[in-house]
Order: sequence, then C-alpha cells, then structure tokens
Amino acid sequence: MTIRFYNSLTHQEETFTPQEPGVVRMYSCGPTVYDYAHIGNFRSFLFSDLIRRFLELTGHEVIHAMNITDVGHMTDDSQADGGGEDKMQVAAKRIKEDKKSGKVPVGSVENPDDPFQVAKFYTNAFIEDSKKLGFKIAGEYETRIMHATTHIPEMLEMISQLIENKHAYVGPDGVVYYSVESFADYGKLSGNTLDQLREGSGGRVQEEHQANKRHPADFMLWKPDSSHIMKWDSPYGAGYPGWHIECSAMARKKLEREIIDIHTGGEDLIFPHHECEIAQSCGATGKPYFARFWMHARFLMVEGEKMSKSKGNFYTVRDVLGGKVTGREVHPAVLRFELLKSHYRSNMNFTEKGLKDSANSVRRLVEFRQQQLQKSGGEVANVGNDHPIVAQFIEALSNDLNISGALAVVLPWLSQEHKDAAEALGVLAKINHVLNVAPLDTAGDLAFGDDPEEGGIESQVKTWCKEIDEARASKNWPIADELRKKIQAAGYEVRNSPEGTVAQKQLA
Ligand code: AMP
Ligand code: ZN
Repeated sequence: MTIRFYNSLTHQEETFTPQEPGVVRMYSCGPTVYDYAHIGNFRSFLFSDLIRRFLELTGHEVIHAMNITDVGHMTDDSQADGGGEDKMQVAAKRIKEDKKSGKVPVGSVENPDDPFQVAKFYTNAFIEDSKKLGFKIAGEYETRIMHATTHIPEMLEMISQLIENKHAYVGPDGVVYYSVESFADYGKLSGNTLDQLREGSGGRVQEEHQANKRHPADFMLWKPDSSHIMKWDSPYGAGYPGWHIECSAMARKKLEREIIDIHTGGEDLIFPHHECEIAQSCGATGKPYFARFWMHARFLMVEGEKMSKSKGNFYTVRDVLGGKVTGREVHPAVLRFELLKSHYRSNMNFTEKGLKDSANSVRRLVEFRQQQLQKSGGEVANVGNDHPIVAQFIEALSNDLNISGALAVVLPWLSQEHKDAAEALGVLAKINHVLNVAPLDTAGDLAFGDDPEEGGIESQVKTWCKEIDEARASKNWPIADELRKKIQAAGYEVRNSPEGTVAQKQLA
C-alpha cells in the first residue's frame, strides 16, 4: 500500500513515508484561546485527527503535538508582522461583558484582566469540546498540548540561534526582527516573492516598525514592551514573542526533531504563519526542511463566506450541540461526522441539511453495530487490514484522504447481508478507529431529524428567553434577572445575540 498526500510545499501529491520507519511526527497549529473555538476551527483540528487515526490504522505510531496560542497573536495578522492588539489583551477586556451576558459563567474567570485566567478558561473549553468530538487529545490521549507562555525559554533559545546565524537582527527600536532576505526560500510555500511583499506591506499596520526594518516583510521575533499585559525578561528587554516563533520552537521541543514529517493547519496559515515558521526553523537549524509534508484544510463556509470570529458568522461546538442550528440537541458524533465527511481540500458548506444527513449516516452505523452485537452475542472477531472492506477503506484514504471514497465503501456495506456478525464487528472496529463515531450505546440520542418534542424544558427555556427580552424592553430588570437565574438553574447558559436572548444547554 502506498500512501499519497498532497504537499502544499511542492504543490503536488507525493508518496508519504516517515523519516523513521513506522513513526510519524506531526505538528498542528492549535487554537488561539481568546474565545470558544468555532466549528471551522474544528474542521482543521479534526482533519489532523483524521490523518493521525488513518496513519495509526495503517500501522504507524503517531507522535502528535499541538500548541495553544496564549500570547503574541495580533488582531491584524494578514502581514508577516502582525499589528493591532494582542488577541489575549482584547479578550481580557471583552470577557467582562461576556461575564455579564452569561457567555462566560460567573466565577469561572475571577479576574477578567488576567490573560492567563482567560487563556485557562478557553483552553479548558477547547479540550472539553475536542474530547466531545472524539479528537485524540490531552489527558488520557497523547497529543502533546503545550502553551506558548510556558515555552518562552525555547523561543528565546531559537531567537539567539537566529541572531547568531545572521537570520535575525535587533532593530534600532530594540525589536528583534527576522531578516527575510537572509533566507533564500522565503516565499516558497506561499508563492510570494520578496518584491511582491515589499509592494504589499505598506499601510497602517506596518508603519510603526517600517523605518526600523531592513526589508518591509521582516517580521517580529521579540518585542520589548514593558507595558504589555504579558511580558518576560529577555536579553532584548522585558517583552513578548512574535506569534510565529512559538510553533517553530515548540515543534522542535515536543517532537524532539529538527525535521518533522507532517505539519498541518487551516489554509489561512500558509501565509504568513507557516512561511515564517519555515524561515525560522530552517534558519535556526541549518536544515533544508522543517516539515517534509505541509497539509492544509480548506475553509468551512457559511452561505459562501468563510466562517470566522471576526465576521461574526460562526457557530461554536456548543452552539451546534445545544441546538442552535437545528432547534434540538445534536449528538457530538453527528457533528464530528459532518466535519469529516467532505474532502479536506475542498471548501465545506455548513448546512442544517448536511447535519441531518450526517445524523442519518451515524444512526445507521450505530444501529448496525447494535444489531450485529445482538447477533454475535458480543463477540468481535480480529480482522486484519487485508479484509476486503477494510482494504478498500484504506485504499481510498491512502489517496490523499479520499473520505468520500472511504464512506462509499462503508455505507453500502452496512446494507449487505452479514452472515458472520463477529467478523462484521471486527471490520467496523477497524473503520471506526478512523471515523470514531459508532461506539455509541444509544441510537435514541441520534433520533435527530424527527420533529422536536412539543413542550418540555427546552420550549420552556425558549419562552423564558422571550420573556427576558420583553422585560428588558420595558426596563423591568429584576424580572429579567429572575428569568435568567431560572434558565441557568435548568442547566442552560444565557447569551445575548442579535436575535435577542438565547439559551444553550451547558454540556460540560
Ligand atoms: P485560530 O484560533 O484563529 O488561531 O485558528 C485555529 C485553526 O483554525 C487554524 O488552523 C485556522 O487556519 C483554522 N480555521 C480558522 N477558520 C477556519 C474555517 N472557517 N474553516 C476551517 N479552518 C479554519
Ligand atoms: Zn502555528
């Protein structure tokens, strides 16, 4: 079996083999923990989970590391040298409002001005959501999760190597910059040239630093700034690291190699983030590559537009599971299936209809499993990868993770007659190592697609939300407060939205 993946660095499909036989080292850019991750973010994270689980199925050990960005990611990050405010700083300010509106539960972030508390809150939410979606992560799993703020020494070490290797310099303003002209391959991943970047890098974002740089596209590695809310001592003065350096430094540290096998992220990270990571890592180590394969997931779209926090057109995992899209709770396995079922290199359009189709597929898998378990009396046969169904499933995924092809093997197979239930369960176990949607013990949870029940607590909560809006409109604050407390006591989070008050079931 030959595995072929599309490599963004060479712009073509290539045969994938790890450097060390049987062991794959993979790094994925993780979330910036300034808000709940949205399902677009999770499409990218689950894409790395798909790679990992597929490689495991085909006999590899996968050592997977992912960072948590809790410093240095600026609000204007389209240029290599991001400008604006640190996203954590913005979150620390916003969270006071979120506490008032109930989006951040009272008592969970004691001091909203403390970015470390904000980061902790959203990191926990991210890990919780990840686990719900069956993403192999943290705790009982081995994905190596690490925070930027606890790896400052590794970043400073890399910065000093870059200065020593003449890839970085301290500007007249005291900022440490990476010199893009010092690295011949700068632009190879994204297709940018230094001349294009010179042209395109004017404007407000850059003005502050331009006079201090050797080339307008040079980017910040360390910024001395004693007024920044998060700062660390360094030979260049107390300050904070640039966004890009964290991934280069942490990948080397956590994967214990200077060259790794696979690096993943969403397509927007190709430039500037990954271009800069390559320049830093290769500049520090002197090696010709940083990652041998660069793999990028295309965006999840909503009505033709990228789902993003800045556009406000996003759903969190909690929104979807709590019923914001469908009017009733959605099982996490359904959302996982929905986010995985289209090919990672095509844009995915998120729709209610898609979610319903996914619910039906997941329900079929679960019911199949239950029926076969009954027939086999709980026995599951040991099935090898050479079983025809497993082999076809693997064959499809070996072709640059052709998930539609893989599902086209599995779903019709469920409808066939199965004489040997134990064998069928063995096949399902193999398939489900990758899909991870079928080990559910109740099909009832997946009865999504039927009409929502009349009455019940859900409709009561909706009524209370409407009453809050009415109470507010007539400035009857005590009533609004009382209603909010009732909803919270029923286990729901209350939020303001452009449509008025909304409540979501607390799923933690
Ligand atoms: P961030 O938290 O903004 O640093 O992003 C985390 C990850 O989500 C990155 O790999 C992004 O490329 C990815 N991402 C952001 N928006 C989307 C989207 N709409 N669809 C898919 N991936 C996305
Ligand atoms: Zn990164």
